Amino acid sequence: MSIDASIKAFEEAQSLIPGGVNSPVRAFKSVGGTPLFITEGEGAYLRDVDGNEYVDFVQSWGPLLFGHRDETIEAAVIEAVKHGLSFGAPTLAETELAKLVISFFDSMDKVRFVSSGTEAVMSAIRLARGFTNRDDIVKFTGCYHGHSDSLLVQAGSGAATFGNPSSPGVPADFTKHTLLATYNDIESVKKCFNDSKDIACVIIEPIAGNMGLVPADKEFLYELRKLCDANGTLLIFDEVMSGFRASVNGAESITGVKPDILTLGKVIGGGMPVGAFGARAEIMSKLSPEGPVYQAGTLSGNPVAMAAGLATLTKLKQNARVISVLEARAKRLVEGMKESALACGIPMQIDVRGSMFGFFFNDKPVKNFADACNSDAELFAKFHSGMLKEGFYFACSLYETGFISTAITDEMIEDTIKASAKVLKEITNG
Ligand SMILES: *Cc1c(COP(=O)(O)O)cnc(C)c1O
Repeated sequence: MSIDASIKAFEEAQSLIPGGVNSPVRAFKSVGGTPLFITEGEGAYLRDVDGNEYVDFVQSWGPLLFGHRDETIEAAVIEAVKHGLSFGAPTLAETELAKLVISFFDSMDKVRFVSSGTEAVMSAIRLARGFTNRDDIVKFTGCYHGHSDSLLVQAGSGAATFGNPSSPGVPADFTKHTLLATYNDIESVKKCFNDSKDIACVIIEPIAGNMGLVPADKEFLYELRKLCDANGTLLIFDEVMSGFRASVNGAESITGVKPDILTLGKVIGGGMPVGAFGARAEIMSKLSPEGPVYQAGTLSGNPVAMAAGLATLTKLKQNARVISVLEARAKRLVEGMKESALACGIPMQIDVRGSMFGFFFNDKPVKNFADACNSDAELFAKFHSGMLKEGFYFACSLYETGFISTAITDEMIEDTIKASAKVLKEITNG
């Protein structure tokens, strides 16, 4: 298998774009090697500039629930394009998508559309602060909520220390209101509430997908809800990744715990740039122009993006059972891979939530970021490049979640398991 054209393309890109990519994780840094330059996707497959084909378990990092070039979604987008790319004025599609999105979630009366997950979460935090008239926020180590300043905090040892920025360019003054807690550890959250009486919101990925797949325990979420209620603090579920992926009706339908504000992205745009945040009317009415909390976007609710979202979510609404079909496939995949690993004496932790799957080369259960960091990164890198050579495209970091789309068949899953056995055997035989 040659990847010469990708190597050449990467060299040129690096001379023009920092690191050759427009979003860092694409650069394959944690697994080594060259990122593949993609020319097209078709169903379950990606094709690169050298003409190689791969079964795609990344799905554009989540959005493509129905695979590449789904006919219905493609047709809806093309139809929308014919009427104009953008108007900067209200369209019927926005109301229609709003109605549809709200119909999925008990906790949501109103919604606002933006153009990315980052924007959705950043705006939700501002709204929570504006609604409560408080400044501090609590986030969990290992959860990712986009790259806005006050959320770019994850480092720091122990719980409830005021966060240090994890990137140069973010003033410490901007993150001093961000408190850190440990995922699945309610005592660490209690400590935050002891340290500050000014907590506007607690934000969490209820099914974390940015430290590998690490779902929160039900009991933990339940206790979190109680703590927020007792302190007049809003609870934000960031389901930019897990929304429409882990279940049809959100983490609230799996865990029974309802958020005050819900953030969405990825699948909601079906591959176009869309994010959203929603809540009950009392909270959403604080948002400009109804209320004083400012938020805006020139291309927010863009008609082409709305068309892609509408087609995707309509399809999901009509085939809600599809998530359990995908879940069965995801389970078979990780259970098969775990057998392949065990046959080579390699311990593996696996988990599945709907069409999301995760695996760690780790001999202990993974409940938080520190646990995830104890996984075998070197083995993961070898596994990743071995699977690529066999024609299977996995996320290029052990801290990412895998995705099954409806285009991935049972047969492809079996082929992936077989390839994993071959690759792991080759790695262990040196
Ligand atoms: C991807 C992601 C974001 C950021 O979304 P972008 O569209 O990349 O800005 C925020 N939160 C979570 C949980 C995500 O997975």
